[in-house]
Order: sequence, then C-alpha cells, then structure tokens
Amino acid sequence: MKYNLMIRMSQSFIKHLGGLKMSENIERLIQQFPLLKNMRQYQPIDWLNPEFGMSAEIPFTQAEVFDVAARFKRFAPYLAKAFPETQKTNGQLVSPLIEIDKMQACLTRTTDTEIPGKIYLKADSMLPISGSIKSRGGIYEVLKFAEHVAMTETNLTYSDNYAILATPKYHKLFAGYGIMVGSTGNLGLSIGMAAASFGFKTTVHMSVDARQWKKDLLRANGVTVVEHNDSVSVAIAQGRKEAATDPHTYFIDDEGSKDLFLGYSAAGIEIQKQLADDGIYPDVDHPVFVYLPAGVGGSPSGVSFGLQMMMPEGIYPVFAEPTHVPSVTIGMMTHLYDKLSVKDLGIDGKTLADGLAVPRSSRIAGRVMRSLLYSAHTFNDDDIYRYLTMLADTQSIYIEPSAAAGFSALVPTINGFKNRVVLKNATHIVWATGGKLVPNDEMQRYYDKGRALLAEPQRELVR
Ligand SMILES: *Cc1c(COP(=O)(O)O)cnc(C)c1O
Repeated sequence: MKYNLMIRMSQSFIKHLGGLKMSENIERLIQQFPLLKNMRQYQPIDWLNPEFGMSAEIPFTQAEVFDVAARFKRFAPYLAKAFPETQKTNGQLVSPLIEIDKMQACLTRTTDTEIPGKIYLKADSMLPISGSIKSRGGIYEVLKFAEHVAMTETNLTYSDNYAILATPKYHKLFAGYGIMVGSTGNLGLSIGMAAASFGFKTTVHMSVDARQWKKDLLRANGVTVVEHNDSVSVAIAQGRKEAATDPHTYFIDDEGSKDLFLGYSAAGIEIQKQLADDGIYPDVDHPVFVYLPAGVGGSPSGVSFGLQMMMPEGIYPVFAEPTHVPSVTIGMMTHLYDKLSVKDLGIDGKTLADGLAVPRSSRIAGRVMRSLLYSAHTFNDDDIYRYLTMLADTQSIYIEPSAAAGFSALVPTINGFKNRVVLKNATHIVWATGGKLVPNDEMQRYYDKGRALLAEPQRELVR
C-alpha cells in the first residue's frame, strides 16, 4: 500500500541522515526547507502544503467513520444516564455551529481586511463532559474499550440498551480494569471523567502545562493524577511504560491511537448536516475552510479526515500552531513527522496555549494529512488572548486560549488564496476546541489579558 511505502521512504531518509551528526542533519534540513529558519526565530509563518489535493491512499475508510457514529449511538442511553447534562441531546455528544457575524465585522475592522463569505464557530467549547474537542476522541476510545470488556466478559449484545452498563454489576466488572493516559489537560479530563463513570481504575499522567483546576476536578472524581514536571511527550512515555506492566490496564496513546483519531472523525457527519441546514454544500466553487488548532495533531487530523470522508470536495483544512511549538507543521513539511521534535531545531516548546504544548507530533496525524492538509500557520501567544476577548465582547462566547488559535489563520488564508472569484462563496469554520469548564476567575484573567493587549497602541494583528 502506498501509505506503507510513504513511511518506508521517510525512514530511509532518516537512515540516510543517521550517518551524520545531528547538527549537520539540522543544517541540511534548513537548507532544504528554508522556512525552518524563520521558525527557529519564532516568526509567524504560513506554509502551503504542496501535496494538498494529490491522490494518496489513506489508511482509514468512510466505513470506519460510520462505525464510530454507530458506537456513539449505542452508548447514547448510557451517556444520558451517567451524564445527565447529555439528556437534552439524548446522550449524543454534539456541539452547535454558530454564525458569528459580529465577530466577523470586528475582525474586518481590526485587521482592515475584507473577509468574504460567512464565518462560523464550531463550538466544541460547549461539548458535554470535558467542555472540549477531547469529548470526541477521548471518550470514544473509553467507550470502545468498555464495550470490548463487556462483550468478552458478559452476555451483552449490540442490540441491548447500554444504560445497563451504568449498573453495579458492570461497575464491579469494570473496576477490575484500569485505563491510563498522558495529557496536557483536556484529554486527561475527558478520558478521566468517562472512565471513572464506568468504574475503571483511572490514572492520568499530566504534563507540566496542565491547569490546576483540571487536576482538582479529576481527583474529585476519584481519578489518580500523576504530575510530571516535564512536557507531555514525557508524561505519555511514562504512562505507556507503567501500563505495560499490568495486563488489565489499557493505555490510551495520544501519540498513535487509531481509535482516538477515528473518534474525532465522526464530527464530519455532524457538520455535514449542520452545513446543509444552512444551505451549504461544499464543492470547488463553494470552499469551506476549517481552522483547527493543532497540538499532537490527532484532533485536527481526525476532524479533517472525517470532513473529507463526508464531503470529498471543497474542504480546506488549515492548522494553527504556536510559534514556539510548531510540531505538526515541521513534521509535515519535512516528512519526518513524529521523528522530528521542535527541540531538535532548538525551538523551546514553551506556550501559554496549554492544549497545544506538544513538542512532538503523533505518529498517525501528519501522515494521514499528507494530501488532505491545505495549509498551516503559526501565531504569537498574545494574539490568541486578543481573539478570545474579541469573541467574548462581540458574541458573548467564552473559550480557552488554545481554542482561539484558529482565528489567527483566517486572514493569512484569505490573503493567500489564489482563486479570488470563489472566495465570496466561502464558508470559514473556526473550530473552538475548548472552554466550557474553565473556572470563572481563570476565564476572567484570560479575558483581562486580551483586553489589555487590545488596548495597546495598535500593533498589527495580522502580518
Ligand atoms: C487537545 C487540544 C487541541 C489540539 O488537539 P491535538 O489532538 O493535541 O492536536 C486543541 N485545543 C484544545 C483546547 C485542546 O484541548
């Protein structure tokens, strides 16, 4: 399969590089990809993926996306019972798609750029249970594991009402199993809350970036939180190592889990309907740009893949990363993917966007996106606070800093898009990846920071 060939190619490239000293390797990479030079100086960059739209075999299928949706549906009665907040959607984990015309007007004013088409916010910040996009992938993988355990250990069938899984009999069964994960915060939160609801012994390895309130909330729900004074790559490695010593503990691997990736993809089905409800049918003359913040790359890639499976034409996924942690961008640009960490390039990996503080990208994400990603952009941390405050002021919607990253890519994407004629038909979807559970005082600090930055003598928001 082409996909394997691709991996083999990049591995032979690495072997080729392997004969040289690291510093010489990096020098050669920079010669080959001059943008890396700007990235090492923390300059915001726009990278257009030269392989966008080329035919490439993708190692996942549309049938797998529908399988995810079917499993979520089987579990809806369970979720409605275990998490009463999901009752109003009958146990479905869905978020609104909101047209944000006041924000659009404000962006036009502050950036002095005409923004043709409509802008929507995909408010995953309002998703139940974790208040973030991780309620898709993270919870999906827990559900799949719970179903596997129940199917192998009991007489549960696919047609049963899964609300039965919220009874003491099953709770006792699940208590014999463990779930472990490494996270910067939100993945741990979604997996922790979902796993604890079943009764799984749950351990979350948190990176140094994780917010205190996320750890407190998990502990209050009976989850074991292990704190690491290091990046999430280290927290994940530790979790993986620990889980391997116990045959009854299942490790959810943010760096390479297929189920996690597929869990995010079901958003494609959800959004196809939301777009159709507004009369939007993407094709080459009606482009839909989707702006997604990338950390390890799993959620933006899973979502992009799902969108592409449902709507094969006219989808333009755009990733946004902090200038200090452009891990997915460097991996895709160089075709070295997870083999290249931002640290290898002397980039420090420090960002206030805690959900994006991932120095090394996932093993799956970049490879799947090779022909699907339209472009990637990097931003200065200050900008996401400005957008956060602007969104609150114009639309009264509050999101966390990482979740505002998509806004930073909007104007550069419009300015760089060659086919000016179709832009007036464009739809822009800024994926707001989290925020609902942020405590009020913390949200107030984010807001105040953005307000202060906006009050500064106008520095150009857009390069
Ligand atoms: C995790 C997360 C992301 C990025 O998802 P990855 O799968 O790590 O790329 C973006 N925003 C928020 C709020 C997140 O929690």
